Amino acid sequence: MTQAFDIIIVGAGMVGAALATGLGQQGIRVGLIDKAVPADFDAHASPDIRVSALSAGSERYLQSLGAWPALVAMRATPYRRLAVWDETPHPLSRLLPGSLTEVEFNAAQLGADHLGHIVENSVTQNALWQTAQAQPDVTLMTGQGLTSLEQSPDCARVTLEDGTELSAQLIVGADGAMSQVRTLAGIGVTRDQYQQQAMVISVRYLGPPEDITWQGFFPSGPRAFLPLHGAGDQHPDETWGSLVWYDSPARLAELKALSDAQLMAEIGKSFPDRLPHLTHIDAKASFPIARQHAKHYFLNRVVLAGDAAHTINPLAGQGVNLGFQDAQCLQGLLKEARRSGDDLANPRWLGQYEQQRRPANRRMMLAMDLFYHLFSNQIPPVHLARNLGLGAARALPFARNRVARYAMGLDEQLPGPVQQILHRLPGLNRI
Ligand SMILES: Cc1cc2nc3c(=O)[nH]c(=O)nc-3n(C[C@H](O)[C@H](O)[C@H](O)COP(=O)(O)OP(=O)(O)OC[C@H]3O[C@@H](n4cnc5c(N)ncnc54)[C@H](O)[C@@H]3O)c2cc1C
Repeated sequence: MTQAFDIIIVGAGMVGAALATGLGQQGIRVGLIDKAVPADFDAHASPDIRVSALSAGSERYLQSLGAWPALVAMRATPYRRLAVWDETPHPLSRLLPGSLTEVEFNAAQLGADHLGHIVENSVTQNALWQTAQAQPDVTLMTGQGLTSLEQSPDCARVTLEDGTELSAQLIVGADGAMSQVRTLAGIGVTRDQYQQQAMVISVRYLGPPEDITWQGFFPSGPRAFLPLHGAGDQHPDETWGSLVWYDSPARLAELKALSDAQLMAEIGKSFPDRLPHLTHIDAKASFPIARQHAKHYFLNRVVLAGDAAHTINPLAGQGVNLGFQDAQCLQGLLKEARRSGDDLANPRWLGQYEQQRRPANRRMMLAMDLFYHLFSNQIPPVHLARNLGLGAARALPFARNRVARYAMGLDEQLPGPVQQILHRLPGLNRI
């Protein structure tokens, strides 16, 4: 027998679970599927190696879904300051004012209590699974993926690995960068693999939780520090943190092969001096990074959200923040579709979703590349400014500040002149 829903969401990651909660709150019947099985939160466990910097906008969205209190009750680390600087030695460095090589944002200067929170992905997902499951209209099915997806003029059907058949007006692919839904729907992507990969290292350091997250840009890639929560009774004077080391795949393979003691020594030599004193390495993992954009956000009865639609360079930590914006936008438009009595796959609404989200996601992809070029290059900044068509070196600190603010989710808009610069970057006209 086929189980019928209004919408089936494949992928109950952070984005899929948020969307399911929002749709469930609107009385839309949702089948939410994930091939993974949930793990209960354990307050004594080491942190998840995957962490994200959630912006103030994401915090507001998660508040509106009712997930924020549960998330904070598990663990989330606010950061009040954010610093980015250039570690590339070039002949002009000594002559330049600090504002050209370092940018620091402080919540107090912006009249805010904090700039964002560093949260383990499993904690965000756990909080959202709780809110999704609290909706009577949401049915969560875990532990299995799809074997097929078929579309007809009046509905879409999926079959799960145990043979269960489900039908709905609309299927949402929120199943991440390697989206099976995207493939089954026949939606292609444009993809550029970056030269660098990212290695994430879970560590403990001596001292209380820092209130700053920072990133130094080296010629081989950025090196970043993200503070986490205190390490608890077992290590009362220590705090968890996350390091991100971007480098060539060959260099990261070398680093991964080192013992923890050797890696600790290598971090000591390679990270900026302001890194707190490390006491322990808990885990390490590397991730390939790519800029990927789906050629369509919807096709017939399938629509994509989050990493299934787009992946960006994680250097400013905006991936899931964009995914939450997709979910919020789609949720609002589907509410309108339901109110108008329309089929939920009506292109009138899905077209508006693509019109709103594609340019916004593309802009952030471009800003990420500009951000990278502005902070990490071996060209003296004056030449770089000229190459980018800024005309005068004095425009550079302006551009860097504004681009960094936008890339970190502190500003919602890029100023016009900076948008023009984006189009001068090589190889970006394809996305
Ligand atoms: C090194 C690194 C650092 C990052 N740091 C940040 C950061 O600081 N801030 C930030 O905003 N973003 C960051 N990101 C990006 C962020 O992790 C992603 O954007 C985010 O996880 C995307 O969420 P999602 O729900 O779209 O997809 P995912 O998190 O990939 O979730 C997909 C879900 O779908 C399920 N699934 C997959 N296939 C199937 C299937 N066939 N059937 C059923 N279920 C399926 C999976 O089990 C999973 O639960 C970072 C990424 C990397 C690599």
